[in-house]
Order: sequence, then C-alpha cells, then structure tokens
Amino acid sequence: MSRRRISTTERLALFKCHRGKPLADEERGQHSHITGERLIELENFCLCAIREGISQGELVTYLGASRSRVSRWCVAAVTKSGVHNDRRLIQLHSKTLVQRLFDRMGSPENTCWTWQGSLEDERYGSFAFDGTTTKVHRLVYDTFLGPIPDGFEVDHICTNPACVNPKHLQVVSSSENQTFASVRRRGK
Ligand SMILES: [Zn+2]
Repeated sequence: MSRRRISTTERLALFKCHRGKPLADEERGQHSHITGERLIELENFCLCAIREGISQGELVTYLGASRSRVSRWCVAAVTKSGVHNDRRLIQLHSKTLVQRLFDRMGSPENTCWTWQGSLEDERYGSFAFDGTTTKVHRLVYDTFLGPIPDGFEVDHICTNPACVNPKHLQVVSSSENQTFASVRRRGK
C-alpha cells in the first residue's frame, strides 16, 4: 500500500502540537521511570504519528527510545483509542507485531475472533515471533492486556481455543484452569 509522504515541516508541526518531546536523559534506559502523565503524552503522540503514516522506526529515532518501548506505546495507544477496528490505520502500522496479529485475527466484531493463521494441535493459533513459535492467545493477552504472571495460564472464557479476541481471554492459575476444563466437560 502507498503511504502518504509527509514533509519535514508537517512532521515537526505534529511533534510540536502534541508535545512529543524526545526522551530526556533520565527517561532513557530500560528501567528508567516515566511518569503516568508523560506516558499518556507519549502514547498519544505515537498514535498521532501512526495516523500520519510515520513509521515506528522514525519514532524510535526521533524519541530516542528503544524499539520495544515505542512498540509498546503504539500498541497501548491503538488499543485504548479503539482504532484497531480501523483496518486502514492498522495498515499504516506496517510490519509491526500488531499488524501481523490483526492480519490474522478474523472478525473485528465482538464475537469470537477465530485465528486465520496456523493452528497448533488443530486447536490453538500459533505464531512465529521473536525467533520462536508461540501460542497466539498468550501473545495477544500479553500484547493487549498485559503481562501474564508467572505460573498463570490464559483461559478462553468463550471455550473456543482458536479465538484471539482479547475480551474473551482471562488469566487463571493452572488449578483454576483444570477446574474450568472439568466443569465444561461435564456441562457438555
Ligand atoms: Zn472467543
């Protein structure tokens, strides 16, 4: 798809109007603290930039932040704004994890989103990311809802293992998961 070219002047105007200041020295580095207010500012800024067709690579350079941080801010902004229903916008987000996920997520409505990519054991969606193959529902949970605590599993509230709708996922302890599974088996 063709991306609208944006001039440097336009880009700078965008940066100024959304106060997307590059990271200060004390904000750099993986474990440095970024205040809640500043985080919102950065997320909003990333969203505006995505809307303008500015790539994550350009944001990384401009903000002086790591690729993984910029990617996280973009995902958070896109998720919170609800614009992930807008396929055109997602296309601007080219070749990021988010697009690769959305490409295969199935229906955007609030029903089960059956994974359109490959399945593991003909049940769970599987996805190659970061050099390993991972279960998509776990990756979706981690990407859109937050980190999965150690020792916890991601359960499908809808009982459809191929579903990757974040609203149908919850974290449960493995004993809770076994209880749910046996209750469901008995219910059938
Ligand atoms: Zn579902």
